[in-house]
Amino acid sequence: ASMRKSKIKRTKTVCTYCGVGCSFEVWTKDREILKIQPMEEAPVNGISTCVKGKWGWDFVNSEERLTKPLIRQGEEFVEATWEEALDLIALRLGGIKEEHGPGSIGYIASSKCSNEENFLFQKFARSIMGSNHVDNCSRYCQSPATAGLLRTVGLGGDSGTIKDIASAELVIVVGANPAESHPVLATRVKRAHKLHGQKLVVADIREHELAQRADVFIHPKPSSDLIWINALTKYILDQEWEDRQFIESRVNCYDEFAKSLEKFTLEYAEEKTDLTKAELIKVATMIHESKSTCILWAMGVTQHTGATDTSTAISNLLLITGNYGRTGTGAYPLRGHNNVQGACDFGTMPSWFPGYEPVQDPKVRERYEKAWGVSLPEEPGFNNHQMVEGIHDGKLKALYLFGEEMAIVDSNMNHVHSAFEKLDFFVVQDIFFSRTAQFADVVLPAAPSLEKDGTFVNTERRIQRFHKVFEPLGDSKPDWEIFQELANRFGANWNYKHPSEIMDEAASLAPLFAGVSYERLEGWNSLVWPVSADGKDSPLLYTDKFAFADGKAKLVPVDWTPPVFAGEEYDLHLNNGRLLEHFHEGNMTYKSEGLTHKVPNPWLEVSLQLAKERNLEDGALVGLTSPYGHVEVRVLVTDRVQGNELYLPMNSRDDNEAVNMLTSSYHDLITHTPSYKEMGVKMEVIESE
Ligand code: SF4
Repeated sequence: ASMRKSKIKRTKTVCTYCGVGCSFEVWTKDREILKIQPMEEAPVNGISTCVKGKWGWDFVNSEERLTKPLIRQGEEFVEATWEEALDLIALRLGGIKEEHGPGSIGYIASSKCSNEENFLFQKFARSIMGSNHVDNCSRYCQSPATAGLLRTVGLGGDSGTIKDIASAELVIVVGANPAESHPVLATRVKRAHKLHGQKLVVADIREHELAQRADVFIHPKPSSDLIWINALTKYILDQEWEDRQFIESRVNCYDEFAKSLEKFTLEYAEEKTDLTKAELIKVATMIHESKSTCILWAMGVTQHTGATDTSTAISNLLLITGNYGRTGTGAYPLRGHNNVQGACDFGTMPSWFPGYEPVQDPKVRERYEKAWGVSLPEEPGFNNHQMVEGIHDGKLKALYLFGEEMAIVDSNMNHVHSAFEKLDFFVVQDIFFSRTAQFADVVLPAAPSLEKDGTFVNTERRIQRFHKVFEPLGDSKPDWEIFQELANRFGANWNYKHPSEIMDEAASLAPLFAGVSYERLEGWNSLVWPVSADGKDSPLLYTDKFAFADGKAKLVPVDWTPPVFAGEEYDLHLNNGRLLEHFHEGNMTYKSEGLTHKVPNPWLEVSLQLAKERNLEDGALVGLTSPYGHVEVRVLVTDRVQGNELYLPMNSRDDNEAVNMLTSSYHDLITHTPSYKEMGVKMEVIESE
């Protein structure tokens, strides 16, 4: 027995799925994953995990893994050596840059890859290729929340930790489904609610699990959140329930803000949102009576035309009630991917260097130029949306994308696919031959988190270390090594031997991470940014000042932007979101037997009323059509949705079921996050059961 035991390797890792950031030990023998062992010491989850963290790892050993570089020859892909593939990329990207300028190439980063890899990728784009056209998939989800928080409190991350959420007297969840999207975080809320008298308010258009458990569940009209939030805020001011002392000592622009709320009366909200005055007064009273309130939100808020403004309205409400800077208070945009926070933090964004310092700030640029020995582009680059439009307009000729299934997850798939077809040159780097890879000219085989070292940042801003368990499969390589080899083909002299050296460089350049180092992240240690040079981290933000020069927050007046829906013939509203068992396009989860077995296909949720009206039963096959495309899916009749509202999980395996065949190119006016949730469709019955 001891012989057998000695061969078992136990390695600490961090979950590669959602932004909660659970960590645990992986027990392995050779390349076999024996089990996932949660540990008391894990700072976020302790002994908890969800099904994905527990069972979602088989993909690492999937036979479908890419193990060799591939080069397109006509309609075929042929295997190539790394030399051939990287030489070709250097030649083609170099040629396109030469001919059309540095602005003709776009760079799409990965929220699944490490901080170090994202840091190197933006360094490659900026310092070697001379372009700020670098973005990541936060553009599809939480960019509006980041923008709303940057405006009001000065930093884009969650105000505190998941422990803070659990200790709040009142938790308000708007447009988020944590029980499926952030399961371990949701268990903390459920426990606090059940055992410690925490109050829970849920605002959503779908009665998901937390909504069923809530003390108050409100169901506003789709896309009307800003109105009821502003009306609550106005009502609180009218009742003189605001935190005067907090406002006077810590907040700017109060008078202008208060004036901006004039039209948001309860009557106006009642008319526009379908919520009753009684419901709004009830929620306002709960906020008034609670000593600590925090607000959690996600895609139900951010994937709308007016999403940045709604996120701003949430922050305004927290500010006037003094709900920042104390345990149990604050703003919590729930981050989707395991490292979407880190991808943004470490600079894969068109207008920011790592640590949210503007590329337009000459002082900051100078710091990077000095360190990197080059001159850097001043103008902010294109975001994902602008890159797709840039390809259609002929401005962008090439794209380099890693670890991102853009062909399925970006809105208006047909429009994205036709853009990819127009590219002169397209590099896709992934662990699988993804849907996006089908459009590529060169496909590079990368290694997943279990095959490399690095760090991720979870939704709480917590930086955690993950450790290499296996060697990269076949000829695949960690993404950071690929970037280094490519950079050196452009004459750079990068010589990073380990990701820790990349982190050291990031820490030396970005003040937000000044004290971050691998020594300080050993074992189960973690650091919550900002981290000062002496290693002191910041689990709770804004305890004495907000992140502006004068230390005061800003109230920002915002008005409602009506949603953009297609014409009247598209009579049903199609909502979309996650399933517990799968993650996004399912490239990993559908390749994990334990998960696919549980839920092999997505289904369309149809309300009891609509099912009756259209004579539909469970299992019926329906077609959904929008002005942009068509899908065919099976029906599940449920009381989670009401009336003419439909719900289709976004976790599809093929184009014919993918929600983004239906979505449009409309977007949040400020951040360009697609308005995935503003979608009208018509439905026809193909088979009624
Ligand atoms: Fe992974 Fe999120 Fe599940 Fe935790 S809650 S195990 S981070 S998917």
